[in-house]
Amino acid sequence: MTDHDRLTELATRRGFYFPAAGAYGGVAGFYTYGPQGAALKRNVESAWRDRFLTREDHMEVAGPTVMPEPVFEASGHLDGFDDMILECPGCGASHRADHLVEDNTDIEDAEALGTERVAELIAEHDLECPSCGAVLAGESVTAFNLMFGTNIGPGSSAPGYLRPETAQAIFVEFPRLAEYARNQLPFGVGQIGTAYRNEISPRRGLIRVREFTQAELEHFVHPEGAPPDLSGVAETSLSLYPIDSQQARSAEHVETTVGEALEAGVIGSPWIAYYLGIAKEWYEHVGVDMDRFRFRQHLPGERAHYATDCWDAEAELGGNWIEISGFSTRGTYDLSRHADHSGESMTVFEPYEKPQTTERPAVDPDMSYLGPEFGDRAPEVVAALKERAAEEPEAFDGEEIEVTIDGETHAIPMAITGFEIREETISGEHVTPEVIEPSFGVDRVFATVFEHAFRRDSVEGEERTYLSLPPELAPTFVGVFPLMDKDGMGERAKEIADALRERGFAVEYDDSGSIGRRYRRQDEIGTPLCLTVDYESVEGDGSVTLRDRDSAAQSRVPAGEDLDRLLEALADLRAGRQTVAAIKEELGLETVAGDEDPIDAGAE
Ligand code: AMP
Repeated sequence: MTDHDRLTELATRRGFYFPAAGAYGGVAGFYTYGPQGAALKRNVESAWRDRFLTREDHMEVAGPTVMPEPVFEASGHLDGFDDMILECPGCGASHRADHLVEDNTDIEDAEALGTERVAELIAEHDLECPSCGAVLAGESVTAFNLMFGTNIGPGSSAPGYLRPETAQAIFVEFPRLAEYARNQLPFGVGQIGTAYRNEISPRRGLIRVREFTQAELEHFVHPEGAPPDLSGVAETSLSLYPIDSQQARSAEHVETTVGEALEAGVIGSPWIAYYLGIAKEWYEHVGVDMDRFRFRQHLPGERAHYATDCWDAEAELGGNWIEISGFSTRGTYDLSRHADHSGESMTVFEPYEKPQTTERPAVDPDMSYLGPEFGDRAPEVVAALKERAAEEPEAFDGEEIEVTIDGETHAIPMAITGFEIREETISGEHVTPEVIEPSFGVDRVFATVFEHAFRRDSVEGEERTYLSLPPELAPTFVGVFPLMDKDGMGERAKEIADALRERGFAVEYDDSGSIGRRYRRQDEIGTPLCLTVDYESVEGDGSVTLRDRDSAAQSRVPAGEDLDRLLEALADLRAGRQTVAAIKEELGLETVAGDEDPIDAGAE
């Protein structure tokens, strides 16, 4: 059994995640998070919200997951959100054509090559269907739109789509959100929510699914505004895989810092550098193994045409580098498109420090002359006069001014144009902000944290599997056990469990099976601590056993004040401000046993 198989088995058996609708044979690309998984996912989301929204002072919104077609016409998803599909002539299975090429050649970014070239490569390399072995040469490769379509209301007059990214639900609300931000740039709006993509071939468990959760932040900045304050992240170390290294086919990463990478021009945008810095620290904080983590720069062919510098955070999962989040400069693209398509202004009014006076050429033609002279075409003459005044005011210094309409030139007497240079006072300007977007896939963070926390060792001569999850993320925070459910031990353990629950901790009370088995169960779901109530706890000095997941070390916590202090210290452990070792030291708790030699004082 490989570690990957062990993880998948553990995920199902212990209620982390499993394929959805199994009773009906399941459906590819949809997963259900079980009780432990739902809690772990929620904790990942809370940790993201805390770092990227609360601490950065950004707003959070929750938009609908279904939106009308015009939104996606404007965003470009209707026309261009495609993957390359190839249907097998033998078994009818659909495949991602670019993935077939990437999986069977040393080409890394086949998508950038286009459908025709990918079809040629499939033929050149004699690729076969991975499902049935049929020859694929000569089969056409076409574009397949990944959006799930639906109808809004009865009938088909109002087509809608399930959003393929949460971002659009932020962009379309820009005018109102800018008001909430008091029209002051920069400001950020984040959203954690579901996105849907009708992936051609969902694969690798939670990595490529059809319904997933995104945590996206749209940071709206002034195009000529000040860069972010980098002092907090300048020294943060980064492992980068820039374009140069990829093109040189070098597997070496550039080990650098945020400040150095920006200065050397490896990272182009200070905003992207800022977010790579805080993302690196956040990933480390939530338990991603930094030896299996890097930031990879997008190759020119991968970037959207409007993006200037894009990086992906990648984690090594199952031996492959997988994109787990993206950091892009989206420019003014989205807001400009929505402004054009909706007719709404998607700008922020930036007042000048001092109002500015400018001179502006203007015309105010005499319609009692133009009307009889030009009839229906008089408005076109007015428009042409305005255009010339704006572009060539110096042409208005003669007796007549010429305008051309549909190739025909007309001389208009200067006296009727009302031409003048007007003085105007301008108090500010309308600015379309640029967007910096860190976009996280919550399910992929979940998958990374889950896989990177997976450990195997040996305790009591038996192989042990445990998840070394950070306490902040652990779905169950404390396991509470009575040695046996008799002689008051069950009651005391329940009291302790209730006291912990009152403090807001996720607690599992368990009185079944041997203590060793109960510890193993909690190890497998990543519970950082267990408290055990035994005879000494109810008949002796009242102390309880504290058992630490990673070391399997046990200590006695004296009753009374010490136990109260422990419960207080747990809040710091949960928030990531304390370690188990530091708490034990502070409380003067010594390791007195391990799982090999469990304490069961007074056990009969
Ligand atoms: P993208 O808009 O394609 O850059 O996606 C943004 C993030 O969403 C990625 O970094 C992934 O973490 C996540 N993501 C995209 N597609 C999927 C999918 N099919 N399944 C799970 N997560 C996804």
